[in-house]
Amino acid sequence: MTDFKGILFRIGDALMEAVFPTTCLVCEKLFPPPQKDYSGEDLREIAYQKVMAPFLCPTCLPGFSPAVSPICSKCGIMFKNRYGEDRVCNDCLMTPKRFRMARSFGVYETEGTFGTAIRRLKYNEETQLARPFQKLLLSAFLRHWDKREIDLLMPVPLHIKRFRERGFNQAYLLFRHWHRIAEASDIDLSDIQIERSALFKIRPTPPQASLKGRERRENVKDAFKVRKPDKIKGKRILLVDDIYTTGGTVNECTKELLKNGAEYIDILTLGRRML
Ligand SMILES: [Zn+2]
Ligand SMILES: [Zn+2]
Repeated sequence: MTDFKGILFRIGDALMEAVFPTTCLVCEKLFPPPQKDYSGEDLREIAYQKVMAPFLCPTCLPGFSPAVSPICSKCGIMFKNRYGEDRVCNDCLMTPKRFRMARSFGVYETEGTFGTAIRRLKYNEETQLARPFQKLLLSAFLRHWDKREIDLLMPVPLHIKRFRERGFNQAYLLFRHWHRIAEASDIDLSDIQIERSALFKIRPTPPQASLKGRERRENVKDAFKVRKPDKIKGKRILLVDDIYTTGGTVNECTKELLKNGAEYIDILTLGRRML
């Protein structure tokens, strides 16, 4: 009887796959959903391909490189020479960054499938990607930080006009459910608060991607404002964004947060452009 039931379930699954194949969120081709994998996982060592398999087809799935040492201990850029220790890069020596350190989950390439997936969340409202992305970003956080080093999680804010157009802030979607995800792995993040109303973007700016070095810095200069300094004062803040390109935006946010009494600012992004 049980065997018969098992067979029925398997036929059911096969039918579901045939009737409801999944659409790849990068290339939009249909593919059979992967077998559910219920094996236990260590959040710190989470595998990109396992987390993304329900969303990307087998062709798009491998297009990913992790952001790994040797990196700049300050801004997190990977060194071309893959041997040696982490150290401060020339750019950080020449133009010191205001934040304490920046880290990322993976390498962002415009053409790569990981990069495309990040943009799909932002521009195509594929908010279902927030689920796997949150897990990946949390794993990067747990690898690079001791959770006791951070008091507040904050998204890089959008201007209200952009927020209304889009309907969501993709940076916030990247950590919204961290507490719940961590709890499922017996990790307690209850000492870390989420704060998303203290820092504002006070004027809209053209997309940084369309600009070059100095223009980028000018573009975001004084674009952010703390409206609730009491929430910031004395706090150790992790500022979250989807992509780190030259760090202009997060550096500008950091300036404003430090001016309002934050103790230090760290940066975490899903993707990191490696110039
Ligand atoms: Zn695909
Ligand atoms: Zn650097």
